[in-house]
Parts: sequence; structure tokens; C-alpha cells
Amino acid sequence: MSDCCAPAKNAVILACSGGSNVGQITNEAAKALDQLGQGRFFCGIGIGAGLPKFIETARNATCVAIDGCEVACMRKALENAGLAPDVHAVVTDLGIEKGYHFDLEADQVAEVAGTVAAALEELGTGPAGECGCGG
Ligand code: SF4
Repeated sequence: MSDCCAPAKNAVILACSGGSNVGQITNEAAKALDQLGQGRFFCGIGIGAGLPKFIETARNATCVAIDGCEVACMRKALENAGLAPDVHAVVTDLGIEKGYHFDLEADQVAEVAGTVAAALEELGTGPAGECGCGG
């Protein structure tokens, strides 16, 4: 394990980024959270691919998984790597209906980002470092 990504309070934000409105809302919410300094938007697909550096970075961080729907691909990718999210948000659980279109609404993105930010605040976490050791 590299010391550069070890602080327990770093947050990595993982989005399912799926091919639907709710999947893309996860992507937009993750970008917004990163830009607001709530954590580092991290390449969740690297964890899904089983790449060791990505998994190690997630293991040493506060993991936020944002899934578009109850299929929960991002959470399951973490679980397949032996990890579990510290914060897990599902867009459809917030009452946003899944559809195979990309007409995203800003208030939907804001609701998801706000839900995650509130959960992070409860945990008392901050943004991840900029070591770049895991992607
Ligand atoms: S969690 Fe749902 S929206 Fe996201 S990638 Fe999986 S099936 Fe698609």
C-alpha cells in the first residue's frame, strides 16, 4: 500500500455512469461533488475491471458509490473486489424514474449530489488527496 493514498478520511466518488437517465445523473452528480470539493471522482470501471491499484485506492478511502437504479452495479463491483461503500446512493430511490433517454434535469443532479454531500458530512469526511497513485 502506498502511503500517499492512505488517509482514511479521503473520499472517492464512484458512479455507475450507466446508459440511462439515472445512470448519467450519477455521472453528473459525481462531477458536481468533485468540483465542490466533496471528494475525488474516481474511475469506478477500474474497480469493476479488477485492477489492483484502483481497488487499493478505494480500500484506503471513504468510498461513495452512486448507482442509477436498484441493480446497483457500482456497489456490486465494489463487493466483487471485497469492498463495501461507506455511502451508497441510488437515484431511483429518490423517486427519479429510470428511462432510456438523456434528458437530465439540473434539480435531479442537485438532489443526488446533495444527498451524498449530506451523508459525507455525517461521516465527517473530506476530499481525497491528489497523489494520483491509482488512476
Ligand atoms: S446501476 Fe442501473 S443505471 Fe447504473 S449501470 Fe447498473 S443497471 Fe445501469
